[in-house]
Amino acid sequence: MRKFLQTIVQTLGGSPASSAAAGAGTRQSAVARVVPREQHSVSRADISEHALKVLYRLRKAGYQSYLVGGGVRDLLLRQTPKDFDIATEASPEQVRKVFSNCRLIGRRFRLAHVHFGRDVIEVATFRGVSDDDDAAGVVRNDQGRLLRDNVYGTVEEDAWRRDFTINALYYSIEDFAIHDFVGGMEDLERGVIRLIGKVDKRYREDPVRMLRAVRFAARLDFTIDKATAQGIRKHRALLAEIAPARLFDECLKLFMSGYGRATLELLRDYDLLEPLFPDTERVLREEGDEGPSLKLLRQAMDNTDQRVREGRPVTPAFLFAALLWAPVRQQQYAMAADGVPPAEALQRASSYEVMRELERVALPRRFKLPMREIWQLQSRFERRRGKRVWQFLGHPRFRAAYDFMLLRALVGEVPQELADWWTRVQEVDRGEQERMIAASPG
Ligand code: ATP
Ligand code: MG
Repeated sequence: MRKFLQTIVQTLGGSPASSAAAGAGTRQSAVARVVPREQHSVSRADISEHALKVLYRLRKAGYQSYLVGGGVRDLLLRQTPKDFDIATEASPEQVRKVFSNCRLIGRRFRLAHVHFGRDVIEVATFRGVSDDDDAAGVVRNDQGRLLRDNVYGTVEEDAWRRDFTINALYYSIEDFAIHDFVGGMEDLERGVIRLIGKVDKRYREDPVRMLRAVRFAARLDFTIDKATAQGIRKHRALLAEIAPARLFDECLKLFMSGYGRATLELLRDYDLLEPLFPDTERVLREEGDEGPSLKLLRQAMDNTDQRVREGRPVTPAFLFAALLWAPVRQQQYAMAADGVPPAEALQRASSYEVMRELERVALPRRFKLPMREIWQLQSRFERRRGKRVWQFLGHPRFRAAYDFMLLRALVGEVPQELADWWTRVQEVDRGEQERMIAASPG
């Protein structure tokens, strides 16, 4: 793949090393580069039928429109895109007139959603460059954070307000070429995540871009450009201003897209776990790199990644149970040392920690309750006799609690013999189950 893209860059002239950096940093130096169809790997056959439908219908209505963002990026890397985003010169209202199955969403960033059954195609109107703070439609706070960005512009201007160069490549259905205004092709070829424009300004406008940089670096196995990386260390405290509900959405993308393990490591390298989960990061640091909490969390991420890859379901309840377990357990131990009975200590520690630790990232209630249940059910693994074992095996949350118990066994919180017993009791037939339960120590 890298070699393939290299060919493109050479065909088009210019050395990859020089112009990407200049292109992304300063607007004036941008040279629109058109990569013709025979020199790139984006094929109509790989684009979703619905996205194509939207592109063609907009064109028929007389509006210029492109495929952009992750869809183009992933197809160029010969990966399967998660979704397809479209950018157009039509205003949201004009888009709505073209499609009956269309809804306008968002205040901060107004968008059109075109619905095809359960599939939704996101259509964004080209944004203008909003340096002019008086422009109607652009609202910033004192730190420069974009509270609203609804000034429309040209496709080239639209490229400049996107986050990273590799996310600002436009595929056109006029000529089936890739239009590159910011040096994105070169960065894609070199495996670089680079913010478009001035780093400080772009992170101030939207601090979530720091998390996005890490997410793409982990997922694509790219390196983060030096200035883009340095900006993260400088501005990471700005994440405190982001709405906890948005951070929750971002956490799902960070940890539940199949690259959770790599993302966790990179987040910690950039000190970005701390602004999301301060108590967890504190315990991880206290215990050090060989500590049990990090080991448990890494394994939880590996398991989640595996499940995502196999197409099996994953739940935020389990993920957050693992993410928050370190401080909960620390609290529980502290209370138990003060003489509080273990089950009560766990109960109290979990409600206290959950309240505190979820101030930054808002876990919705429908996941919070099952998360706490996963913790609370842990004490039931200690009892292996009597009717309660049968009840427990039939409990709707048994499987999640069991998976969590295996993680705890891995770090020595639960004897391996106990974990093995629970594994075996699920595998054998009813008669053998009865024998095992009758013969168990307690
Ligand atoms: P994914 O594969 O996760 O969907 P993506 O790059 O498509 O990755 P989206 O969140 O779907 O990410 O956003 C689509 C596009 O919108 C991005 O590629 C980028 O060009 C632009 N974009 C998204 N979020 C931001 C942001 N916070 N700031 C600037 N541009 C953004
Ligand atoms: Mg996308």
